[in-house]
Amino acid sequence: MRLLLLIAAIVGVFLIVRTLLLSNSRKKAPMPERLKEQGTVVRCAHCGMHVPQFDAYRSGDRMYCSRDHALEDARESQDD
Ligand SMILES: [Zn+2]
Repeated sequence: MRLLLLIAAIVGVFLIVRTLLLSNSRKKAPMPERLKEQGTVVRCAHCGMHVPQFDAYRSGDRMYCSRDHALEDARESQDD
């Protein structure tokens, strides 16, 4: 009975490790370069320019092309 449990445990561990390894290798699969470069593009809420999301500045739920535009917009909304 003990031996059976041991075998079941080993098979279980083997299956878990195998699943982890498979999902890891899938994640590491090379992504097409273009997709990486394009990424998500967002629109500046101040001037309307489109910028990659990783280059954009976030203020609340708005996105901006630069820190200056984020600050300018914040100032303008305070003036209201
Ligand atoms: Zn802008």
